[in-house]
Amino acid sequence: MNDPDQYAVIGNPIAHSKSPLIHNRFAAQTGQALRYVALLAPLDGFTTSVHDFIAAGGRGANVTVPFKEEAYRLATQLSPRARAAGAVNTLTFTGHEILGDNTDGAGLVRDISRNLGQPIRAQRVLLLGAGGAARGCLQPLHEESPAQLVLANRTPGKALALANELQAQGILLEACGFDELAGRSFDLIINATSAGLSDSALALPDSLFAANALAYDLLYGRVTPFMAQARRCGVRVADGLGMLIEQAAIAFTLWRGVQPDTTPLLAELRGA
Ligand code: NDP
Repeated sequence: MNDPDQYAVIGNPIAHSKSPLIHNRFAAQTGQALRYVALLAPLDGFTTSVHDFIAAGGRGANVTVPFKEEAYRLATQLSPRARAAGAVNTLTFTGHEILGDNTDGAGLVRDISRNLGQPIRAQRVLLLGAGGAARGCLQPLHEESPAQLVLANRTPGKALALANELQAQGILLEACGFDELAGRSFDLIINATSAGLSDSALALPDSLFAANALAYDLLYGRVTPFMAQARRCGVRVADGLGMLIEQAAIAFTLWRGVQPDTTPLLAELRGA
């Protein structure tokens, strides 16, 4: 019998990653013969680790912190959403080519629209943060045709620079600092800052949350001050676990051509 196809998630640190569990579950569910492992790459050894993995028969890899920008530079072909993100989280190895894609933002959109049933089209959408995660979400959110797409960041200059850069790719959005959000409200507020990691509150007015709003924090596994504020304002709140599972499902489909059902795994991990 042939060895199963090899896949991996590459990062540093990597021991905490849920990707091996997620992908091995998808493989079992869809009957795909593959092996998916976690690979720790040295901080100065990402490219070598990828080439070693290809030489050992690797067919594809997910890339996580801190290597997504390096993966972008390593790829010999990029999808439009990877180009807009300036970062790659999914590599596919075919012949001599390394295909780079970014499934994070599409995973977010799928979690919000499918799993949570919150519309994006024609809605007022606010994205907080201008780091790597925010950047990866903008093109897929823009593609859903929201009525407004506003990018706000603690350091307004970073949001403005990102908006200017994306404008050249036809992605139009408004950029501002948190101060300029006073008196405005949104139907979908997405926190793509890392403030929750240090339990820091964001200086956001309560009026931001429209009555029907969904407040979504990309962070998962804890209730962040952003989520707590949204709850106090009486709106629906979600964390980023669904995004994590959906971005993995999209990568799995790119590699294997079959779409796993994410519902049972999401329920299982939520229960845990
Ligand atoms: P970065 O370090 O690239 O960006 C950090 C961003 O957070 C910047 O915009 C920064 O603002 C802002 N920020 C940090 N601290 C504060 C604070 N106290 N108040 C206001 N703004 C703050 O991080 P990433 O973009 O890589 O990650 C962001 C979050 O997304 C992380 O929590 C990460 O875990 C999560 N994530 C979740 C994923 C999922 O699948 N669910 C996937 C990817 C990321 P400034 O520019 O002013 O410094």
